[in-house]
Amino acid sequence: GRTVGILGGGQLGRMFAIAARRMGYRVHALDPSQDGPAGQVADVEVVAPYEDVDAARRFAEAVDVVTFEFENVPSETLAAVAEIRPVHPSPAVLDTCRHRLREKRFLAKGGFPVAGFAEIRTEDELRAALVRLGTPAILKTAEFGYDGKGQVRIDAPESAGRAFEALGGKLGVLEAFVPFACELSVVVARSHAGDIVPFEVAENRHARHILDVSLAPAGVPAAARARATEVASDIAKAIDLVGVLGVEMFYLPNGDIVVNELAPRPHNSGHYTFDACVTSQFEQQLRAVCGLPLGEPTLLRPAAMANLLGDLWEHGEPQWDRAAAFPDVKIHLYGKTEARPGRKMGHLVAMAETAEAASARVLAARSALVSGRPGADPCP
Ligand code: ATP
Ligand code: MG
Ligand code: MG
Repeated sequence: GRTVGILGGGQLGRMFAIAARRMGYRVHALDPSQDGPAGQVADVEVVAPYEDVDAARRFAEAVDVVTFEFENVPSETLAAVAEIRPVHPSPAVLDTCRHRLREKRFLAKGGFPVAGFAEIRTEDELRAALVRLGTPAILKTAEFGYDGKGQVRIDAPESAGRAFEALGGKLGVLEAFVPFACELSVVVARSHAGDIVPFEVAENRHARHILDVSLAPAGVPAAARARATEVASDIAKAIDLVGVLGVEMFYLPNGDIVVNELAPRPHNSGHYTFDACVTSQFEQQLRAVCGLPLGEPTLLRPAAMANLLGDLWEHGEPQWDRAAAFPDVKIHLYGKTEARPGRKMGHLVAMAETAEAASARVLAARSALVSGRPGADPCP
């Protein structure tokens, strides 16, 4: 069969659909909002809320295999789809990865390095956990968090009450603060046959808890890159992945690696692969879920990616011609019509002699988008 279904209509689905259509596949995207980033480029956009199990069944019947780009599709919907067609990665993988406690327990049980953590249901549990894990610590909701939403840093035990209130009655996870030197990620693919193919290790820089820039290869020693790659590959095997998995990690000043979280789909830090690798993470997802052999992940040249957030639209449409004047910079836009602060609208990619040089190029192109505007950086 050559028709793939994707649950979720965001930019990850859009880039998946582009990769799949390029290889001659038909793509159906299920999306709660009309004309979403994925729906715009899919062959068929099915507009229905994720809770609409009947619509999801009809969606599944029209395709040969199903994957997802959105982690919070309700379990009932996913189960109904999985009864009709193969879903990759499996609902079990998704179930582990979308719940921080289940994810951390899975990792700890498998012997993977994670920060100290505790399940938080009551304020007393939080106080006890703060004694055990110390401060600073980070309190996160167990589910539905992204871009740092649903997280509070606790710097002193006295702020336990306020932090607990911020959970708003949701199940929480307290994590020991990891004093990292930098953040890394490895996107890894695993095929039906069990072949494991990792991409280059990326180094990730965040701004306001949102990924800002990714550089590949990461600027850490080769031994650390090898270790990060090994950890990600071992996780892919342990979780019995079929598909693509993004593994976020902290790199410590002593060279150790600690796993932060998992995303069972292409990852924002792997967007550079679309321009800079023989096979992109989206093509790799297609290959994995369709039972094809995986492609070569080779990085063609050091690369960097900078996200374009809605904030850039604050004073009107960015000046695209100014970014286009950087002939080595690739512009990706997701087709979102409403630009809100913090919303991921697109990204830029460049390749250069080094990843840092590529990063300088995407940052310069991004500054040029808003140069000369009120509030713009006066020295782009
Ligand atoms: P994403 O958009 O990546 O899914 P998220 O909301 O799930 O984000 P995390 O990845 O858990 O959140 O955390 C966001 C960022 O906050 C991390 O990339 C890191 O910079 C910081 N952070 C999170 N947990 C810790 C920790 N235990 N120690 C130190 N910094 C942390
Ligand atoms: Mg996350
Ligand atoms: Mg994260």
